[in-house]
Amino acid sequence: MSRSTRILVIGAGAAGSAAIRELAQHEEISPTAIIETEVAPYNRTLINKAVATGLLDAYQAHLPALPVPSIRDSVHAVDPLEQTLRLRSGARLDYDALIVATGSAPHSLPPNTTSPAALDSGRVTHLHSLDDALRVRAVLERTRSPRVLIYGAGMIGAETAGILRDAGCRVTLAASSPIPGVSAFGSQVAGQLSQAHRVTVDTHFGHALTRLDLVESELHAAFTDGRVIAADLAISALGTRPLSPSPWGGAIAVDSRLRSRDHENVYAAGGVAVHETDGTTWRIDHWSDAEAQGAHAARSVLSSLGHADAPEPYRPCALYSAQIHQHLYVAAGRTGRFGTTRALSTSPLVLTHGRADRLVGVSGLDAGPDVMALVPRLHTSITPMLTAESNPSTDTP
Ligand SMILES: Cc1cc2nc3c(=O)[nH]c(=O)nc-3n(C[C@H](O)[C@H](O)[C@H](O)COP(=O)(O)OP(=O)(O)OC[C@H]3O[C@@H](n4cnc5c(N)ncnc54)[C@H](O)[C@@H]3O)c2cc1C
Repeated sequence: MSRSTRILVIGAGAAGSAAIRELAQHEEISPTAIIETEVAPYNRTLINKAVATGLLDAYQAHLPALPVPSIRDSVHAVDPLEQTLRLRSGARLDYDALIVATGSAPHSLPPNTTSPAALDSGRVTHLHSLDDALRVRAVLERTRSPRVLIYGAGMIGAETAGILRDAGCRVTLAASSPIPGVSAFGSQVAGQLSQAHRVTVDTHFGHALTRLDLVESELHAAFTDGRVIAADLAISALGTRPLSPSPWGGAIAVDSRLRSRDHENVYAAGGVAVHETDGTTWRIDHWSDAEAQGAHAARSVLSSLGHADAPEPYRPCALYSAQIHQHLYVAAGRTGRFGTTRALSTSPLVLTHGRADRLVGVSGLDAGPDVMALVPRLHTSITPMLTAESNPSTDTP
């Protein structure tokens, strides 16, 4: 391949910037990043932990400058057969290899839940972008001890409840499920976190939100049990879905080398990528794992161009964590409900997640060292660990 081989990377968040940095080490190729015009790439994990509460200004969350040229535009559509993409500005670019690292978008509240007046008030928001963080911050700055309703108690909702409470907000954490967070944390961790929520913030679990109205200058949130909760700010935290330009418009299915299963010379990494292993599909939307996927996709591209050996199949093992009230949740690998979850220890809670005799994930609450100690054993046989365990509890879907 010649020096003019064109490698494009769409997006420069966790996965995209890691891919670019990996590619940039090879002088013989010239990757280009396509970065949305509106804002410099930033560290999304700081949105709720620092920018929303004013600990950091928005610009302080920006990522370091990329070591390669970038085009400030959004990708409108990709034509994988022609190997071209069209930018919002109308320009067209050809590529020899394309890495899609466009991340995810937050799930919306159900249609017709939010009145136009509530939407226009600036008091209803997701917490996914820097703009969202600044919306939250504006309410915090103009209201003393604001009442904040957070709807959804997965990773972001649960973590943000504690952060905003510590920042002086009166937080109500609401969710349609009686024990929220099962899909994010698994049932055992979610059970313990539910207790922690109940003693730390107001909770309203087990009832779905039906309506959000603006009444004078406050929000009224109505639930299926008839209760109406008044708030100065409502944060929707219902999880994320993969985000990508046409023709995918969502998840991009990849193989173990992060190559698109459907289109040649297309790779995907991070929140947009959906993987398949042992007949189950999975997606990991966490910062370090997205970085690892981005670097892996870059190595796959390099190998396809003859600049590197083929990488091993991608096996997730990056650690991620969330501080939720007084608890620290730490996990690595695949922890979703696709196999068998066993408690190696209940105090502190340490869980192994197995599939087809392999340890594919580990997680725990207030058990950071125990979880970290298991990371090197990820993707090896789970049997020796379990025979050492005398009284495992199981959580099999
Ligand atoms: C509030 C919050 C807190 C979080 N906290 C943590 C945490 O503590 N720990 C953790 O591990 N994870 C955390 N996460 C998750 C983590 O931020 C994501 O998993 C990670 O950012 C995913 O990386 P990514 O590269 O796939 O996507 P992103 O980092 O979102 O990057 C995607 C990039 O693609 C760009 N893009 C999208 N579409 C286009 C297009 N059409 N054209 C051009 N560019 C495009 C976007 O502008 C963006 O720059 C948090 C997420 C949120 C929202």
